[in-house]
Amino acid sequence: MAFETHGNCTACLVEGATTETWDDQAACSRLGVAVASRCRMCLRTTEGVSSADTAARLASGDGCPQCGATLDDACYEAHRCPFCGATADARETEPATSFPSPADVARALERWAEEEGLHDADALLSASFVGASVAALHAALQKREVIETTFDVADFLFSAGAGATAGSEVSAREPSRSDDAPDTIRAPSIPSLRRVGGAREELLALASVAAADGEASPEDHMALRRAATKRNHPPLLGDDIRVWRPAELDPPATLSRREELLEEMLQMAWADGQFDPSELRIVRDYGRAWGIDPERLDAMVQVYTFGDVSRFERWARRLALFLFPARS
Ligand SMILES: [Zn+2]
Ligand SMILES: [Zn+2]
Repeated sequence: MAFETHGNCTACLVEGATTETWDDQAACSRLGVAVASRCRMCLRTTEGVSSADTAARLASGDGCPQCGATLDDACYEAHRCPFCGATADARETEPATSFPSPADVARALERWAEEEGLHDADALLSASFVGASVAALHAALQKREVIETTFDVADFLFSAGAGATAGSEVSAREPSRSDDAPDTIRAPSIPSLRRVGGAREELLALASVAAADGEASPEDHMALRRAATKRNHPPLLGDDIRVWRPAELDPPATLSRREELLEEMLQMAWADGQFDPSELRIVRDYGRAWGIDPERLDAMVQVYTFGDVSRFERWARRLALFLFPARS
């Protein structure tokens, strides 16, 4: 089955700019390389190739395409099977466009915005580039600086929106928020005098997940920083990064905001690359305290733990979700 993720562009250095297609029938994907990738900014494209492509038939299962051995994350990252030596690589099919003038940047953004169904380049800039100007972006591209974005990568991963091409075979995993998952119908009765939480409280809830299994890992810290940036809030420091009980924090004002935050907490649980029972317990505690229907919470957990997908798919999705460490 094919699926899509987003990743960092190694040519223009815009975070989350590439759309990557994976297929468990393809040798390259089973060695950690996307079948195809396209940068929505510089339009560089690559295709995955593998030494196992010449094999008469691929090994069955989702292990090494050549010898069938079960591969771990390190093998995916190295794009090489240590047992039989099969390798994979991303081969450039279209080079990156350069952006000599701000007008070139503006044109690229217009095109990208149109692809995303956004009104114009300004809409894209304010939604995903922390409001950077065309001139600032142009300067960063010229200097070859990494360009941070606030693409909600999880949205790309868990909804069929944004990157998915209409009518294509590729479909992002639909969380079927409205179909399968029962809605939390009744808003819980939060005492009316109670204050509601803002960005800081949301970050503390996320920190609770990060600290659930003991010490927050460097990946957890990175994910927390990103969550703070997204909220225009200074990053949490030292003592704030601990397990906070739901009762200690004022909850987000609306039910839908509480659900969104719970989803973000589930994503946070993936930041260190594994889903720990203690992290899940925290999310459930918050869900209960915030009046989220337990069945709905179960449905969310199902989606965010990637249910029963192949090993490389879980790896690729997790990589895209927590992203951006794979910068070389
Ligand atoms: Zn690019
Ligand atoms: Zn092998």
